[in-house]
Amino acid sequence: MRILVIEDEKKTAAFLAKGLREAGFAVDLARDGETGLEQARATKFDLLIVDIMLPHKDGWEVVAELRGDGVRTPILFLTARDSVRDRVKGLELGADDYLVKPFAFSELLARVRSVLRRAPQRQAERLRIDDLEIDMRRHKATRSGTPLNLTPKEFLLLAHLVRSAGEVVSRAEIAEQVWDIGFKTDTNVVDVVVRRLRAKVDDPFKTKLIHTIRGVGYILIARENRIT
Ligand code: CA
Repeated sequence: MRILVIEDEKKTAAFLAKGLREAGFAVDLARDGETGLEQARATKFDLLIVDIMLPHKDGWEVVAELRGDGVRTPILFLTARDSVRDRVKGLELGADDYLVKPFAFSELLARVRSVLRRAPQRQAERLRIDDLEIDMRRHKATRSGTPLNLTPKEFLLLAHLVRSAGEVVSRAEIAEQVWDIGFKTDTNVVDVVVRRLRAKVDDPFKTKLIHTIRGVGYILIARENRIT
């Protein structure tokens, strides 16, 4: 997964590059809008992170030109502004999401993953991990061919864990993805739904797929990747 960060503030750019590389992404940097635009046209990225206030060409121009060229790469805007008008403008120009500075890196990472998951080319209809199979279109999940009878929330949660397989998913991220709500949620709610999900997905089967990372969140791991 390769990400282009177009950001003129050195400190922010370095902070983003470091964090994203640690999270396993390849990161390219551009310091102004024009260079960023050239790089985005020349190379195929999985995601662009674009600051709005940039020298030479601002983030709005960059996104408008790329979309005008038919480039469909997902775009996450960064901005110090927080007015409704700016958000609307960014989204109308074809940005996929918006993050207002200053932000916590964990929040950026959650948005990055969420934008990448929504990207149409990454939306597989069927997800498979071990003997677990998820049919996204029919909202059905099976293990070893046995239907799991999940509620809609349980299904969303499982699909999220499967898409993030091998990565620890925090309770806050689950709250945001599954309930589409912010980070102040009572995370006990998350634990309760995870427990119900495990009762259906893992309890009846010998191999457990969902694991608790104490104090952090949950991880779904396939048998062959299991850390022992
Ligand atoms: Ca800037």
